[in-house]
Amino acid sequence: MRLRNIPGAKETIENNRFVVHQIQEKRNHWKDVFGNENPVHIEVGMGKGRFLMEMAALNPEINYVGIEMYDSVLLRAVQKMEEKAAQETAPGNLRFIRMDARELPLAFGKNEVDRIYLNFSDPWPKERHAKRRLTSRQFFERYDQILAPQGVVEFKTDNRPLFEFSLEETEEAGWKIMAHTFDLHHDPTMNEGNVMTEYEEKFSSMGNPIYKLIAGR
Ligand code: SAM
Repeated sequence: MRLRNIPGAKETIENNRFVVHQIQEKRNHWKDVFGNENPVHIEVGMGKGRFLMEMAALNPEINYVGIEMYDSVLLRAVQKMEEKAAQETAPGNLRFIRMDARELPLAFGKNEVDRIYLNFSDPWPKERHAKRRLTSRQFFERYDQILAPQGVVEFKTDNRPLFEFSLEETEEAGWKIMAHTFDLHHDPTMNEGNVMTEYEEKFSSMGNPIYKLIAGR
């Protein structure tokens, strides 16, 4: 997702209370950011943040951090949070970071993250761009640096080639596929408690099956 450049987006984000800055200072100090010891779950490539807003409201005992690389996209999430704040419904357990996920180990210390969500990640179909895919072995190496030993990566997509690449790449990276499905919405076990993302709603309403895998070490 890349929206048109929006004038003022960068400044709004820089000054917004829901966006965390100076990430290197927060590394190993996320408990202080949230003011509690609750587990931290992150979504990498969160887009406009709808999934995390719903998850945060449903699970107040978990802290959520959404990561998005584009100002114009993050701005939408920030605006939505401000709308919620005006109605006193903004979840207190959700923060955002604007950064490229290649820098994840600068923002989180060893074992500091308990779960990583990857939802409808960009497919980067050209082979020479494979390392940009969020399920590439290069990204699994980064996840390895921040994810607690029992932590998992949960990945959903409607893109079959990307899903097949991800199944293979998980194992090439030395991780295990703990569960997977080629039709999430018709898999009663894996679909239990599923919160749909913005892209998931869009693609499943077009009749596309949704694929999901859960990976651990
Ligand atoms: N997760 C949302 C959903 O399911 O509705 C949004 C999906 S959208 C297709 C993918 C998002 O990931 C885009 O907003 C894109 O900017 C972001 N993204 C892709 N690569 C990224 C990276 N390396 N670091 C941070 N964000 C990234």
